[in-house]
Amino acid sequence: MDIQEQIETLRNELRQHNYNYYVLDQPAISDYQFDLLLKQLVDLETQYPEFYDANSPSQRVGGQVTKNFETVRHEHRMYSLDNSYSKEDLFDWETRIKKMVDGNVDYVCELKYDGASISLTYVNGNLTKAVTRGDGIQGDDVTTNVKTIRSVPLQLQGDFPPKFDIRGEIVLPFEGFIKMNEDRIEIGEEPYRNPRNTASGSLKLQDSSEVAKRPLECFLYNLTGNNLPVSTHFEGLEKARKWGFKVPAAAKLLNSIDDVLLFIDYWNVHRHDLPYETDGVVIKVNDLNQQEELGYTAKSPRWAMAYKFKAEQVSTRLNEITYQVGRTGAITPVANLEPVELAGTTVKRASLHNADQIEKLDIREGDEVFVEKGGEIIPKIIAVDLSKRPADSKPTQYITQCPECHTKLVRREGEAQHYCPNYNGCQPQIIGRIQHFISRKAMDIEGLGGETVALLVKAGLITNYSDLYELTKEQIIPLERMAEKSAENLISGIEASKQISFERVLFALGIRYVGETVAKKLAKHYKSIENLAKATVIDLVTVDEIGIRIAESVVEFFATEENQKIIQRLKLFGVQLEISADILATQTNKLKGEVYVVSGVFESLSRDELKKLIEDNGGKVSSSISSKTNYVIAGSNMGPSKKNKAEQLGIPIISEFDFKDILG
Ligand code: AMP
Ligand code: ZN
Repeated sequence: MDIQEQIETLRNELRQHNYNYYVLDQPAISDYQFDLLLKQLVDLETQYPEFYDANSPSQRVGGQVTKNFETVRHEHRMYSLDNSYSKEDLFDWETRIKKMVDGNVDYVCELKYDGASISLTYVNGNLTKAVTRGDGIQGDDVTTNVKTIRSVPLQLQGDFPPKFDIRGEIVLPFEGFIKMNEDRIEIGEEPYRNPRNTASGSLKLQDSSEVAKRPLECFLYNLTGNNLPVSTHFEGLEKARKWGFKVPAAAKLLNSIDDVLLFIDYWNVHRHDLPYETDGVVIKVNDLNQQEELGYTAKSPRWAMAYKFKAEQVSTRLNEITYQVGRTGAITPVANLEPVELAGTTVKRASLHNADQIEKLDIREGDEVFVEKGGEIIPKIIAVDLSKRPADSKPTQYITQCPECHTKLVRREGEAQHYCPNYNGCQPQIIGRIQHFISRKAMDIEGLGGETVALLVKAGLITNYSDLYELTKEQIIPLERMAEKSAENLISGIEASKQISFERVLFALGIRYVGETVAKKLAKHYKSIENLAKATVIDLVTVDEIGIRIAESVVEFFATEENQKIIQRLKLFGVQLEISADILATQTNKLKGEVYVVSGVFESLSRDELKKLIEDNGGKVSSSISSKTNYVIAGSNMGPSKKNKAEQLGIPIISEFDFKDILG
């Protein structure tokens, strides 16, 4: 077999396995075997870049970065759907239809998936474009990101027409959503509100390898195009399934509105067993000729109707409003409810968000309230049953003092949340900050978990993260669930964290608005905590991508005496507070003023390593080619459009090895 055949065989095998796994849910090989095949393919493609294919299964891992998503006009408009809420609405719809078309009308019922709509274009069986709905007339080209979604076929099988569009919904199943939020909470970020917004936000991420990490799925529900090889909608769904698309099995062909109502009743209950969010049923006239006769209103097809599930709602008593203090001091009011069954779970608490929300709904302790479970995981209170309000009820007075440390709360202009400003004396803030310090992406201290941190603080053994470095085994052993061995592990975990690099230490300090990326930027620019602590707001904003809000927060942090003491102590204990000498030694100014664009897959180092090498030597990395670009470093699989652009502008295209020569 020659190389090209080998590559094609691997691609076909991988496509089939991908289809078995993501569309049919019936994997035929283990994940490990799959990864091995994929690696073989990537290796071959790297070695023989002449066989590059934009729709190879190797493209699933992403890596391309999009700065601006191009606006694209939909060839066929993407309409909204009319909504209905009752049997009567549906019977009315049927009456309108019967006036306009002759003969029997069959209906297809599908679930209404709650995510982000997408239009996919296939030419000769290859995915060529993925565009968001936008305003229905034009949307954003998000092809690179959509290619990373495993259930979107990059190449079709069977008797597909030469060119067509297919519409569907990109959703984020609950499991993946919850997991993503756990990761965010761990690093002290606000959790995402609901799967739908997270799904649509994912499509607009600049780095497609980030999208590849998110467990998104794509469900297809409509073929669109001229001269489609089908005469009914249902046939279209069945064909789409054969070509390789994921069309959920719930879709049913029914021949009366009465059957449609049974379908709705069934899913109104069973939707709670689905692993993803749905908010209704979509009913479509099956016959495409009838669809054409019915046509469209200004906004939606007359041949389709959405039936919205009533969000599950119950009423229960609000026993008490309590207040939680987060790591940053943000106060969150929580409704403690008389436990009640809602959508299959017992609900005891609901989020109240902030003071404005309480005031807007005039929510009071002792009220009977309506609780709803929508797209959010945490249920929310949507209204008060005023008819049941006790006569002696008084409006809620939002707290003015921190529930933990009794400090007077502040609310900055333009912010919805109240804050406890007692940075160094408020226990939940102290605990939260130390938990952030030890977390995986920060100091990654093995053998120490969030609960132990709380125990250590409550036992008075530590009051800030620098105290960790003075803990002794003898102090720890008496704590709950601690033994000789676990105490030793904890101490050695803390000791090992002294090797963690400066940029991560800087992130670990928990300076407001200084996340991982900002910490890297600052570490690289200032090289030591001493330099950073001396920087003024004006200095700071000259650093690439550092804005005024971050700058002020950094200055405020270092201006606080308590923080200065803590940093002195960290230094004393040997925590890395400057860029290590090895790293400094690898940094030069050789490439100062030069702008590089990096494209493709490299042999001797990863793309990130290459970028770092450029930046460490004073060069700049840009994501798109322009007249300001000095060199394009090309690996295998370089995008053809980049190649053309570089050639047009006469910008030298060099290999990774040429680049290393330049560096010497
Ligand atoms: P709306 O946004 O309320 O006008 O509802 C229209 C949207 O419902 C469409 O843009 C689709 O994104 C979405 N939708 C979800 N599931 C389906 C389905 N099975 N058929 C058609 N549209 C659907
Ligand atoms: Zn407090």
